[in-house]
Amino acid sequence: MAKQILELTVSKVIQERGDTKTFHIEWAAGTEYTFKTGQFITVYLPEEPQTKRAYSLSSCALDRGYFEITVKRAGYFGEKLNEVIKEGSKLVVIPPVGKFNLPDDQTLDLVMVAGGSGVTPFRGFFRDLTYRKLPTHGTILYSVRTPDEIIFEDEFRALEKQNPNLHFKVTCTRATPEKAYQGMPYDATPLGLCVSRVLPRVSRGRATLGCSTESLWDSSFRA
Ligand SMILES: Cc1cc2nc3c(=O)[nH]c(=O)nc-3n(C[C@H](O)[C@H](O)[C@H](O)COP(=O)(O)OP(=O)(O)OC[C@H]3O[C@@H](n4cnc5c(N)ncnc54)[C@H](O)[C@@H]3O)c2cc1C
Repeated sequence: MAKQILELTVSKVIQERGDTKTFHIEWAAGTEYTFKTGQFITVYLPEEPQTKRAYSLSSCALDRGYFEITVKRAGYFGEKLNEVIKEGSKLVVIPPVGKFNLPDDQTLDLVMVAGGSGVTPFRGFFRDLTYRKLPTHGTILYSVRTPDEIIFEDEFRALEKQNPNLHFKVTCTRATPEKAYQGMPYDATPLGLCVSRVLPRVSRGRATLGCSTESLWDSSFRA
């Protein structure tokens, strides 16, 4: 099937924590997309077709009728989307592609390492594993500077309750009592140490998926 590059409507804009917004993009009436959880779409503004950027889907393949992307206000296009896109705005969308997917082997334990806005595709993974009631176990190890940067915390906690195979672990590298979020204490263990503690407990086969800057990834696995 030819790629359907369509101008779609952003029907909701959700302010998340961490200077980040989620854009809920409605599919055109009668359109269906076949894609995998973890893939990314490429978007551009109708009036600026020369500037295209990729965004991981923060929704999953079982969420039908819409795409969600979650964009940090950083860099030229990240700032632009956060600034100009309102409910009813149009975005041109190049359909999902990408190989950052859940492994076919459902008996693997997934260790998902993320920093900042790198956690976006993992919301799709947590949703997918829960909706499909898969036996896969998954742990997200998520590093942010302060608790007010933890994206999707409420949903990750809710999915953790719904699906006992899932764990969401956060480390805040610059947590202080003053920077606690709604009174919640947060651990400031370096991400590398979290990774080194979790990996030996994974007894079944393991798949490690990372979505973060290269330096964060390197430091996590040098620990
Ligand atoms: C496959 C893929 C998936 C992506 N998924 C997401 C996503 O889910 N959410 C998202 O916000 N971005 C995501 N990005 C990054 C996105 O495509 C843009 O690069 C980003 O919005 C910055 O805009 P820009 O490229 O115009 O920045 P530029 O003006 O070109 O500047 C780039 C600068 O911004 C910094 N930067 C870029 N992105 C970030 C970020 N997210 N956090 C902190 N610093 C950043 C870079 O280090 C660099 O210094 C993804 C990129 C790829 C390739």
